[in-house]
Amino acid sequence: MKKIEFVFQENPETGKLYEITEGVFWFPMPLPMMGPDYVNCYILEDGQEIALVDTGVNMGDCKSIWENMLLRNFPNKKVSKIFVTHHHPDHIGLAGWLCEKYSTEMICSRTAYLMAKMLSLDVHEKVSSSTELFWRQAGMSREMLEEKLKARPFNFGDGVSPLDKGYIRVSENEMTTINGVNWTVRMGNGHAPEHATFWSNELNLVLAGDQVLAGISSNLGVYPMEPNADTVGDWIISCEKFLEVASDAHIVLPGHGRPFSGLPQRLVQLIENHKSALKRIKEDLKAGPKTAVELFKTIFKRDINKREYMLALHEAVGHVNHLCKTGLVNRNIRQDGAYIYEIKSN
Ligand SMILES: [Zn+2]
Ligand SMILES: [Zn+2]
Repeated sequence: MKKIEFVFQENPETGKLYEITEGVFWFPMPLPMMGPDYVNCYILEDGQEIALVDTGVNMGDCKSIWENMLLRNFPNKKVSKIFVTHHHPDHIGLAGWLCEKYSTEMICSRTAYLMAKMLSLDVHEKVSSSTELFWRQAGMSREMLEEKLKARPFNFGDGVSPLDKGYIRVSENEMTTINGVNWTVRMGNGHAPEHATFWSNELNLVLAGDQVLAGISSNLGVYPMEPNADTVGDWIISCEKFLEVASDAHIVLPGHGRPFSGLPQRLVQLIENHKSALKRIKEDLKAGPKTAVELFKTIFKRDINKREYMLALHEAVGHVNHLCKTGLVNRNIRQDGAYIYEIKSN
């Protein structure tokens, strides 16, 4: 198995276009919000037209960055297809605006469309009672809980332009053709439900979205909508499925960070990282029961700062849910309403 190697040695400049291979371009967009430095969009030439993959978030000057780049590099080409890998705002954020502007439809999985549409309409001025309950059950600190309850919650629509049109569905193993090249659709889960990835064995390219990243690990968050979701289990199954078709020849075009090769190696690492976190949790719980938040240090092997707290909370719940689902750990309710997890004694 080949080790992971980046195709570009330097970090990219956002708003600039980089050629991956003939007719395939990488377009890193700034992310005017917390999280990774930039989100990757891709542009694929399709004869006299172009196809876009992922769109960036609807914030700051991202719209004019798109307009300037398209005008500068593809002045005579029509945007005919807009692929979206998954429903997160950094990927779907400008899809509605681009579809409207270029009179076209978004192409994505059914779940990605339904999630995005539902969350766009689910607007809250205050934290909902189900969200508050979820945070309390995860064992959120009193200080953080008070702060979160005071602030207006982030609404999905704050970073996503309206999705007024319908969509075109892509499904598992479906083939889509761009510029005469076939791309196979493969769905992943765990980071986002029914996350589409696109594989071309002819070009040896994989448009991976956030399903496979090199430098950082994709967040496997559980949210109040589905509080018992087994995101970690779903993620491991997806990585194992991709491992069957991944090759050292593939260049991965990820949702964040630089394109890279060494896909089989990266998938093995991703599986191992989570399996070893699960093992550490089991060891730790032998000393006594803990809440999801009390397991931060065990899972992430470092202190979690305030900025990372929420992502860590959602992912910690993902890990304990997996251990509950596989029957290794019991979940009970503590007096303060937090769930505590304890190792099952056989
Ligand atoms: Zn994502
Ligand atoms: Zn992302």
